[in-house]
Amino acid sequence: MKLYTLTLNEARNLLQKKEITSTELTRAVLDRIRETDDGIGAYLTVTEEKALKAAEKADLRIAAGTAAPLTGIPLAVKDVLCTRGIRTTCGSKILENFIPPYNAMVIERILEEDGVILGKTNMDEFAMGSSNEHSAFKLCRNPWDRTRIPGGSSGGSAAAVAADMCIGALGTDTGGSIRQPASHCGVVGLKPTYGRVSRYGLVAFASSLDQIGPLAKSVPDAALLMNLIAGHDPRDSTSVPEPVPDYSGFLEEGLQGLRVGIPREYFEIQGLDPDVEKAVRGAIETIEKLGAVQVPVSLPNTKYVVAVYYVIAPCEASSNLARYDGVRYGFRNDSGAGLLPMYCSTRSKGFGPEVQRRIIIGTYSLSAGYYDAYYGKASQVRTLIREDFNNALKGCDAILAPVAPSPAFPIGEKTDDPLNMYLSDIFTLSANLAGIPGISVPCGFSGEGLPIGLQILGRHFDEGILLKIAYNYEKATDYSLKKPEISPGK
Ligand code: GLN
Repeated sequence: MKLYTLTLNEARNLLQKKEITSTELTRAVLDRIRETDDGIGAYLTVTEEKALKAAEKADLRIAAGTAAPLTGIPLAVKDVLCTRGIRTTCGSKILENFIPPYNAMVIERILEEDGVILGKTNMDEFAMGSSNEHSAFKLCRNPWDRTRIPGGSSGGSAAAVAADMCIGALGTDTGGSIRQPASHCGVVGLKPTYGRVSRYGLVAFASSLDQIGPLAKSVPDAALLMNLIAGHDPRDSTSVPEPVPDYSGFLEEGLQGLRVGIPREYFEIQGLDPDVEKAVRGAIETIEKLGAVQVPVSLPNTKYVVAVYYVIAPCEASSNLARYDGVRYGFRNDSGAGLLPMYCSTRSKGFGPEVQRRIIIGTYSLSAGYYDAYYGKASQVRTLIREDFNNALKGCDAILAPVAPSPAFPIGEKTDDPLNMYLSDIFTLSANLAGIPGISVPCGFSGEGLPIGLQILGRHFDEGILLKIAYNYEKATDYSLKKPEISPGK
């Protein structure tokens, strides 16, 4: 048996029955990374030595009989999460050498359970992007077809899960960055309700939209990771003091009588790929056969979603990114001409073109005289989008939809056309604007053999219902079990 192919739940069972050790498992995954990642580019940093030490420590804990669910499990984390003593670049030159003095809350949780951190995964710079092509360091390729993007911005985490270069991973989702790469790489990805997981130590992109969540090989694996990371944290003022259920507990329930909403507007979008439509409609039928009842729903403000998001997210980003001035963090470009020229050249050389574009859009939209017309108006329409979901979810328990209009596109296809890239986020942005949870679960393949995901959206704090639907569907199909064929090397 190849240990790196194990799911998180399988690995957990074998570890706890002492049939394998965390050291064996961690070595197997590190070897896999060494053999495979040159041709993929999922990791920006691999912390081999630290990982092996953590595995040793986990083995002692398992031997002592005090193991927690994640003890000894090798995990990958997106390079936007602060890791004490480990470089955290955010995919940006401006943080190329930044070594955080503290851990993000989710990292603390992994370490408390003696989980094993393998390294930091590739991403679009500051999580801005849908293809991972905006990483300042290197491309990340889709393990199913290396000429294609893995999705973004958590492309590295999704590719690492798909190519068995970790047992599970964490990503972040501001407008789809967990769900869309999960869909493109054929893995499970869950964006929790806004406030469910602490953002403490997550490098901010758009603070009212950002959430951390799991990318996993199966739905039960995603549930276990949710158990680990969900919960209140006083260090994040938007973290909600709601009790955390046992997410694994939802998996055994059936779908009898559950009402699933089918949003009319989502299937009328121009450019919805026929293979995607077919796979998603097929998944809806399967879910109906499993006992759920379809109800038509309407999300009338869908046509404004891209415009609203691409005002609000850049506004928040321009404000959050003001802190990178060459004085306090990372990269500095100083010609000795004074403070202002130092700020300007640091920011022009440190940030890539997409980040600069967003800072300019955001600064413009927030400036006196434009604030009401852009940010103010976008915030009002955001409320309408949230109301669309509140209304739709009164008549159903969850909404079923595509994740992205097409399967993974070829590398380079949209890089010169930012608007086209933004439009590909149409189905994922609204969950962040509304603050609701969403999951992507594999639901088929395109004619060219590229994975397609089904998106399930739910009410605030109803992650359990999403996991239940996704798991019933996953059990009834075998899409999550399919793996890309990966030849070693470049
Ligand atoms: N693609 C979206 C953007 O570029 C979402 C990114 C994200 O979720 N981090 O803003």
